[in-house]
Amino acid sequence: MKLDYHMHFEYGSYDESWVEGFFTAAKERGLDEIGISEHSHTFPEFEPLYYADLVLDDSFIGEFQKKWLKKNKFKYTLDDYFAFMEKLRKHHTVKTGIEVCNFQDQEKVRDILKGYDFDYVIGSIHFLRGWAYDSSEIKAEWERHSLEEIYDWYAEEAEKLCEAGLYDVLGHPFNIRLFKYLPDFDVTPYLERVAKAMAKAHMAVDVNTGTYYRYPIQEISPYPDFMRMAVKYDLPIITSSDAHKPEDCGRHIDDAIAYAKEFGYKECLQFEHRRASAVLMG
Ligand SMILES: [Zn+2]
Ligand SMILES: [Zn+2]
Repeated sequence: MKLDYHMHFEYGSYDESWVEGFFTAAKERGLDEIGISEHSHTFPEFEPLYYADLVLDDSFIGEFQKKWLKKNKFKYTLDDYFAFMEKLRKHHTVKTGIEVCNFQDQEKVRDILKGYDFDYVIGSIHFLRGWAYDSSEIKAEWERHSLEEIYDWYAEEAEKLCEAGLYDVLGHPFNIRLFKYLPDFDVTPYLERVAKAMAKAHMAVDVNTGTYYRYPIQEISPYPDFMRMAVKYDLPIITSSDAHKPEDCGRHIDDAIAYAKEFGYKECLQFEHRRASAVLMG
């Protein structure tokens, strides 16, 4: 099986003719199934959580993030999303997922999610102390922190997310390498903390090619050291492209599968109504 469970419709709209391109690309790349994982910032239900968590003062990152929250965000409700997915399911096999940011108030997240029948829920670290560390526009912020501090923050956020018990998958683990700030110290304890927390929460690793074709690091996430840690903790995986555009659906999925196989993985997870089954990859 060839699956891609991490992609976003947000650069377009909930319009069947536009999203058709995702299915065309999936077919061209021989995918057996795709799943959509809209960002939580698509939905107004999550809006207060962003305003509670993000740095929004008059600092350099605050000014950027205030504008970011006003741009193409919170445009459909979860009801709109489910209604649109229902429409698509008349002609396509497609799963309904979501990618939720690492909010501090996990009880609020639980309340929002509980009314909806997702096939799977991805939790991703997108913010460290309220800073959107993956935004190239505020990349300069990286120079203001030590990498030890950033690795510690990342591990702490991942632990909190796993402990919430709300998520099936950790999105693109350790994508903090994306701008090529690479540690010259031993990161094993941080990798171990995250893998341990994921194992306890029965969460899968998102083997995500987005960091390969969308970011300077040009490597699949997670990078080999965390893949080895995932094997040590017996963590299952999903494969994904993190497509934001139709033509990127399934991009480099064959590479993701070959990459996972290098570490001994033969199976990935397929989801339906939050139940996972392991299927052979490839
Ligand atoms: Zn993400
Ligand atoms: Zn994503």
